[in-house]
Amino acid sequence: GADISARNVDALSSHFPLCMQHLHRSLRRDSHLKHFGRLQYTLFLKGIGLNLEESLVFWRTSFNKVSDDTFNKEYKYNVRHSYGDVGGDSNRRGGGYSPFSCQKILTEHPPGPGEAHGCPYRHFNLENLNTLLQGVGISDRAVLQGVKQDKDSQKFHMACNRVFEYVHKKEIQKAKEEGIMTSAQLETIVHPNEYFKRSYLLKN
Ligand code: SF4
Repeated sequence: GADISARNVDALSSHFPLCMQHLHRSLRRDSHLKHFGRLQYTLFLKGIGLNLEESLVFWRTSFNKVSDDTFNKEYKYNVRHSYGDVGGDSNRRGGGYSPFSCQKILTEHPPGPGEAHGCPYRHFNLENLNTLLQGVGISDRAVLQGVKQDKDSQKFHMACNRVFEYVHKKEIQKAKEEGIMTSAQLETIVHPNEYFKRSYLLKN
């Protein structure tokens, strides 16, 4: 099975959708993420199988410019809360909060200045979106043009699926030929955790 651990998140991040890659890159660049970024990313990582203990290791080592004291006071509680380890009874019974769907990320809490959460296909301008896509290795002109059209027509998840299909072109072809993946399994992705699951399955 997959090694879903704090020290492996860098390697796993190649399977993340653009929203989570952006959060990961921002976290590595700044050793910090603001509240909604931490929330979106914590719940996504929980969804891929990072347990509470590993999540706390991940956030502690990633926030490497703050003291233990600051970390424990300002950040630890929210991570534990996301996992239902602390907080209200209903939260605890339900094992914490569910990872956000694309719908939620696309429509709630748009990011402000200095915030890295949200969906880049929606919340970035075209120039910054192209820079980010090229930063993660997508410079194919036809793909970038398609993304632009999707964005212009506000079909943000279509842009995301377009990029997925491009990045996994060979593997999708092979999986179809071998009958590993049915067309039902290749339906449009509408959840960041589904993007990860499918990417991981195809590449391993
Ligand atoms: Fe993330 Fe969904 Fe946007 Fe893709 S469409 S980048 S998975 S929020």
